[in-house]
Amino acid sequence: MLRRTKILATLGPATDKPGVLEGLFAAGVDVVRMNFSHGSAQDHIDRANTIRELSRKTGRRVGILADLQGPKIRIARFKDTKVFLNEGQDFALDINFDPKAGDNTQVGITYEPLALEVRPGSRLLLDDGRIVLDVVNVENMRVNCTVVVGGDVSNYQGLILLGGGLSAAALTEKDKEDIKTIAVMKCDYVAISFPRCAEDLHEARRLLQAEGCYAGIVSKVERAEAIVPDVMDEIILASDAVMVARGDLGVEIGDANLPAVQKMLIKRTRELNRVAITATQMMESMIENAIPTRAEVFDVANAVYDGTDVIMLSAETASGKYPIKAVEAMDRICIEAEKQRSVRESDHRLNIQFERDDEAIAMSAMYMANHTKIKGIVALTESGSTPLWMSRISSGIPIFAFSSQEKTLGRVTLFRGVFPIYFKLEDQDHAEANRSVVKELRKWNLAKDGDKFIITKGDLNGVEGGTNALKVIVVGQGLTP
Ligand code: PGA
Ligand code: MN
Repeated sequence: MLRRTKILATLGPATDKPGVLEGLFAAGVDVVRMNFSHGSAQDHIDRANTIRELSRKTGRRVGILADLQGPKIRIARFKDTKVFLNEGQDFALDINFDPKAGDNTQVGITYEPLALEVRPGSRLLLDDGRIVLDVVNVENMRVNCTVVVGGDVSNYQGLILLGGGLSAAALTEKDKEDIKTIAVMKCDYVAISFPRCAEDLHEARRLLQAEGCYAGIVSKVERAEAIVPDVMDEIILASDAVMVARGDLGVEIGDANLPAVQKMLIKRTRELNRVAITATQMMESMIENAIPTRAEVFDVANAVYDGTDVIMLSAETASGKYPIKAVEAMDRICIEAEKQRSVRESDHRLNIQFERDDEAIAMSAMYMANHTKIKGIVALTESGSTPLWMSRISSGIPIFAFSSQEKTLGRVTLFRGVFPIYFKLEDQDHAEANRSVVKELRKWNLAKDGDKFIITKGDLNGVEGGTNALKVIVVGQGLTP
């Protein structure tokens, strides 16, 4: 059975080890994430080349998502990599302190405005909330704190002001430099960290397009201000995909609010015809262990029930001990969860008038697929819009996106239930088109005699938005080989 929910795995030192990427491909990874918070431009370029190479070798088009660091505020380095902070002790964050010389009384920080944006009583959280500091006072550019919850603190850990409100713009100078690297790498998606509003995303898109890059934009929802109702809709509409970035978002809004926000965000994202990604700590214990906890099994399955397109692995694959096993575990949990009836039924857009014929055809194809015996749907697509609309409908029927456009094949890697297949229609003749579609399906072992498929296409293949036909074919009958 084909798994519909997509697996997005973060690359890092653990996946650089020999054989690991091959293992991730075999385990069914759909998209990889390059985390621009770590590593040099050359590291990312090298990894992207390896992924492309493996895609060619295996015939599986794995997408590439570049994740910009954004204005994540980080502490600088410690003399000895990490220190232990005790509850009740003093600890200072200081812009002017040597960024390599932190110890257990003070550490450097690179975010200049910090001292201006906190006041006595402000609460600062390190490492997604594991360490809690309360601000006592600010002296010049030095923020003096008391440790409320202590523990190990290591180099470059992220820092957040509880309740949000740090003013940093979403795109930093480093991000703007990285966008140039990303354009050269021809990534399929670019994730924007900490966007505050739709304009942050428009700006990112403009900068990318100026470099000739038409990657999809992923907005990481990780600030309290991004889930205010109107702002949220604008952010979703300005994006191609939306990530429920539970790590940073949980720190800003409080962990107890996350489950409801995850459900609401995924639902709204799908309603607005965008793609949803659920991220962070899904398989956290697998950084150290070969099997997930029961709670993690439920978390992955529940995200599938919530309707997510994609589930993400972070440190589990980037630096964990069992990167391949983490993907395998997600794969088997999704396949079981997808058997639930609720995951296959849909009332998406039942009550609306469609403005476009191609959208109406996509919806009709899904209605037919869900209510008759259909083996699969083949969407001959230029831009990828038809398979996107189709995949907003819950269904158990696979959607094969047949396209000759590299950009489109890359885009659909994140769409739930959509599988990219390179296909170039040589002959506009309708019967000939049916024949070559069936030949391609047979090549991938996706069709046998008697299987019924739906094909959607445009009379003028090669034109965006031109889908105007839905046809039904039976393999081995009539004009189909
Ligand atoms: P990050 O984003 O892993 O880049 O921090 C995801 C999150 O905050 O959950
Ligand atoms: Mn984050």
